[in-house]
Amino acid sequence: MTSVKDQKALTHTKQKDILLYINNEFVPSVSGATIKNINPFTNEQINEVAEGRAEDINKAVAAAREAFDNGPWRTMKLEERLACIYRIADLIDEHLPEIAYLESLDTGLPIAQTRAMVSRSAENFRFYAQMVKTRLVGDAYQVDEEFINYTIHKPVGVAGLITPWNAPFMLETWKVAPALATGNTVILKPAESSPLTANLLAEIIHKAELPKGVFNVVHGYGETAGDALVRHEDVQLISFTGETTTGSTIIKNSADTLKSCSMELGGKSPIIVFEDADFDRALDAVVWGIFSFNGERCTANSRLFVQETIKDEFVDALKERVKNIRIGDPLDPETEVGALIDKGHWNKVKSYVEIGKEEGCEIFSAEIPEEFSKGNFVAPTLLLNADNSMRVAQEEIFGPVMAVMTFKDEEEAIKLANDINYGLAGYVWTNDIKKGHRVAHAVEAGMLWVNSQNVRDLRTPFGGSKSSGIGREGGHYGFDFYTEQKIVHVSIAEHRIQQFGKK
Ligand code: NAD
Repeated sequence: MTSVKDQKALTHTKQKDILLYINNEFVPSVSGATIKNINPFTNEQINEVAEGRAEDINKAVAAAREAFDNGPWRTMKLEERLACIYRIADLIDEHLPEIAYLESLDTGLPIAQTRAMVSRSAENFRFYAQMVKTRLVGDAYQVDEEFINYTIHKPVGVAGLITPWNAPFMLETWKVAPALATGNTVILKPAESSPLTANLLAEIIHKAELPKGVFNVVHGYGETAGDALVRHEDVQLISFTGETTTGSTIIKNSADTLKSCSMELGGKSPIIVFEDADFDRALDAVVWGIFSFNGERCTANSRLFVQETIKDEFVDALKERVKNIRIGDPLDPETEVGALIDKGHWNKVKSYVEIGKEEGCEIFSAEIPEEFSKGNFVAPTLLLNADNSMRVAQEEIFGPVMAVMTFKDEEEAIKLANDINYGLAGYVWTNDIKKGHRVAHAVEAGMLWVNSQNVRDLRTPFGGSKSSGIGREGGHYGFDFYTEQKIVHVSIAEHRIQQFGKK
């Protein structure tokens, strides 16, 4: 592993090529094919990554299946398994600067933000180790003096984890930690555009010395490697984070093998700012909520509804902020908005700014400094005077672009917020606490924040409603997905057993 000790090391250097991690070995793909991994800031190649396909997925599933059925992982003492989980957490902590560096190099996300994000990743492992120990508990039902019925949790089997590129390490550990801590074996299929930290996770887990085949990483494209994982009959569950349309394809393709699927999908989340809100705090929240992580964030507040009485003042303040956002090199700790993941996504986000223009929005954008012309930069943009029926207000753009709209009163704010297919997150700003609760209850989304930014506590459920997801992960809620509940009925009475065919 490369060491990143000081600021001087933070340059856009080439990285070693990456292999697949199967059955505790780093191996090339069966076909020998590779994917060129491109730096979003320079559009130069970072390295080559082994391209896993169906045959590599088959190898990884066979290893994970063997590890689950015949290896020690599922049956070892809990303390022993959890010791492995804590070892992974400690190793992540040791490598935090390197993880943040590789994440920013690979994704174009500003390093100040990746540092903050990856520092929570070790916590995913520690948290789930604690949860398994303290909260993975069954129920007992005494039925008169005749039966005791009790539930136990069993690991489900081989877990297929498919992740996106927008917060790769955080989202990978968010799935790997509960899957492993509950005793499953894992195949991680990271996004093809962000393989660096997934490979580092494989190196870290290799160092933690888990039994053979318990954790595997197969890099590759969604339509080949991802699809083979989804269709494999020896994989019992798929936890997926990504676009809504991909989620829908995965559910269809997993149907023949009847997999359990957890879906964390896209969003187009509203932020509602009432006239009685704390103006400055609401402004901070709106700006950070759409422009942090380059706007490539599932819970971004990409639809602003500001009460019409404060619209002019609020929009003026917003423009001032947008003008001053520091666009720059993702590896510069001062940078607030970096480069988008790849040229394809860059084109998509830019095309939405054009669509906004055609639909009649007034466009207000920051300036991209000339020196950054090689990178996939999209300037932070406000689509002013938008209407909720426009495409730019209804479709997920997934970049630093926000549709700005107004509302008259509480009723209209709720109506507009809910007039959309998505339902991932929502934000409400008001100093009337009753109104805050009312609106939070009425907005159709899985997660609501009142007078708060997107701050998460790992104990709480995470997930969306409508087209933003199915199921909840996080806290003990994830156990419903990562474990199989079993009921055991035990008779404690000597009562007669019903009989057939007895003379
Ligand atoms: P994506 O759907 O394009 O890809 C996600 C993953 O799915 C990748 O690993 C990809 O290779 C794989 N994949 C693609 N097609 C597949 C197929 N047919 N079968 C199996 N796997 C397949 O998403 P993305 O562009 O990487 O990520 C951005 C999206 O993720 C946005 O929509 C964003 O809102 C969403 N997201 C949601 C959450 C959440 O928690 N709800 C969090 C982060 C990102």
